[in-house]
Amino acid sequence: MNGSLIILGSSGSVGTQAADVARAHNIKVDAVTGGKNVKLVEEQIREFKPRFCAMADEMAAKDLSARIADTDTKVFAGNEGIIEAINATDANTAVNSILGLAGLAPTIAAAKRGMRIAIANKESLVAAGDIVKAEVKAGGAELIPVDSEHSAIFQCLHAGKKSEVKRLLLTASGGPFYGYTAEQLRAVTRTDALKHPTWTMGAKITIDSATLMNKGLEVIEAVRLFDVKSSQIQVVVHRESIIHSAVEYIDNAVIAELSHPDMRECVQFAITYPNRCDAVIEPLDLFKVGTLTFKEADRKTFRLLDLAYKAIETGGLLPAVLSSANEAAVALFLNDKIRFYEIAEVVEAAMNSFANKADFTIEDVFEADREVRDRIKSERN
Ligand code: MG
Repeated sequence: MNGSLIILGSSGSVGTQAADVARAHNIKVDAVTGGKNVKLVEEQIREFKPRFCAMADEMAAKDLSARIADTDTKVFAGNEGIIEAINATDANTAVNSILGLAGLAPTIAAAKRGMRIAIANKESLVAAGDIVKAEVKAGGAELIPVDSEHSAIFQCLHAGKKSEVKRLLLTASGGPFYGYTAEQLRAVTRTDALKHPTWTMGAKITIDSATLMNKGLEVIEAVRLFDVKSSQIQVVVHRESIIHSAVEYIDNAVIAELSHPDMRECVQFAITYPNRCDAVIEPLDLFKVGTLTFKEADRKTFRLLDLAYKAIETGGLLPAVLSSANEAAVALFLNDKIRFYEIAEVVEAAMNSFANKADFTIEDVFEADREVRDRIKSERN
């Protein structure tokens, strides 16, 4: 690639994989930002020597400043500091792998700077996709998906024209509880839910994969990224995670993208697009894979997927409410405050009690987020 890269959320799962890609291809990293993980961010600063860094947590920023006093890297603090780092750099590409709605303001800041945004932060697209897209357009920026399914669809869309697309086939691993009944889901524990069959990811997205909320968020993400209707998106449970998604065209040709499941392929493609460069991942051995299977998703048992369709069909702030309520509910579950099956109940209640509106600003999104979290906190603590 030309120019340099910034990695937002560099200590997370996708962030460290973006660092792997930068290392493999000698890409200059001009800024890294993290939350609290001072140790890892310090290592990244010593390795990549970025000019800027930021820690969302103020104490962590202080700690990091002291630890890297011998380097030339400037440290910014707090959520504002992340924006300052984005504004200070002259990088042309930002990988945004910040978790949750916290990724929204950085996405918009990078859009205003006219950067290519390799976006792994699905919540910002879910909550405010239209606003993000308008900012990207106004800033002359570019949005390239990093999520494996959306990266696959993005690649498959090069096989035809937009007007020739009939459906998107969004694949899902099905998570650790594939085939479970509603009754069996009631007995699920936190340890059970943190095991994912294929991908190694952070705790929040691992839980989202187990509830199928991750797939629900991805349906909405696909609507935003590819300007299709939710009714044009078919979720396909594909346990092997070899086909990362597919596009069906009007002539019924289906173009799929297959690879060994490793997110680094997606991060790399988002950075180097429209070029491909040498692999950082293992080649796909189809003989080893042997069989590929496909099943329908059980939207009745895994209600969050159904709620996601409902949210995007209704529109307005409802997708934001769905995502914020889910973030809050997953945090409660990870702290043993609610059971696994209650995550869907919390999200559904939040959606039902919210006074939705069709037209909204970015401030309305943050206000809805606060309202939803406060209500869940007061009801469930
Ligand atoms: Mg995904």
